[in-house]
Amino acid sequence: MLVRSVCTLLIVLSAAFTPHRDPSFEVGGGTIDVNLDSDLSQSAQDDLMNWVHTAANSVVAYYGRFPLQRTYLNVRSFDGRGVHNGHTFGVHNGGLIRISVGTQTTPDEFKKDWMMTHEMVHLTFPSVPEEHHWIEEGIAVYVEPLARLRAGNMSKAEVWGEMARDMHQGLPAADDEGLDNTHTWGRTYWGGAMFCLLADIEIRQRTRNQKGLEDALRGVMNSGGVITEDWALQHVFEVADKAAGVTVLQELYTRMKDKPVSVDLDKLFARLGVVRNGDVAKFDDHAPLASIREAISTGKPGKAAAMNASLDSLISNTAAH
Ligand SMILES: [Zn+2]
Repeated sequence: MLVRSVCTLLIVLSAAFTPHRDPSFEVGGGTIDVNLDSDLSQSAQDDLMNWVHTAANSVVAYYGRFPLQRTYLNVRSFDGRGVHNGHTFGVHNGGLIRISVGTQTTPDEFKKDWMMTHEMVHLTFPSVPEEHHWIEEGIAVYVEPLARLRAGNMSKAEVWGEMARDMHQGLPAADDEGLDNTHTWGRTYWGGAMFCLLADIEIRQRTRNQKGLEDALRGVMNSGGVITEDWALQHVFEVADKAAGVTVLQELYTRMKDKPVSVDLDKLFARLGVVRNGDVAKFDDHAPLASIREAISTGKPGKAAAMNASLDSLISNTAAH
């Protein structure tokens, strides 16, 4: 609550000093008000606005619309290159994203950046109690590349290559006590992302590849579960499962919340037909879960998987050794 009132004050202050040229645009049913630091050159501002539009379009591609009517984007600049320090908050009348951008950031660096899309994904999900922070970050980590893929801003080879390269960081270590009790960086960001990948596959298995995680997440957003609201996690998963028509999220949460759950990721990616080559992937379209991988990539319902196995054969209640 303190954060919210502080941020509200910031908006009031920044609005009072906002130059008239600060841009505002509409996307997917929402308005984004951009507050730019005056240190940025005109061409840097143009590049930056392209980047903001691209990220917003990615979120709309995954969720079907922009999550909030009003979002305030507060961009600070620093001398250098790159994008740093993204933070997203709920404020009384919308969402607030604060982010820092180097004044010499190139168009290519903006194109490759993931952080703006990550922050905008946070807008789509309610605030949950601190011990469940892993689900907020896990969704942002998992959805961000898929959203960019669906908007044409990343390739399938990049998305699956990076997922196969990085997902192991979410596996439990020897002293793990489950996602709600183990607040390491790896378990928070990639443990949460692994939960989302498992849920996405299992929802598609049980619905014969007609529904996916995005149906569950859109259900939460469309029921008013966005960053400005505080929800209990159990309620989030009930609403999400109802939208998907299967109880995958509640079951997976019960299984992973207070116990280490290890996943045979090599076998999982092999079943999906993901063959990693460095940072990119090649695909085996004859793999048993290839049709599920394709539906996750495109967002279009697909054929039921050739293998109708539950995740049980890939999951074990043991920590890594
Ligand atoms: Zn985040």
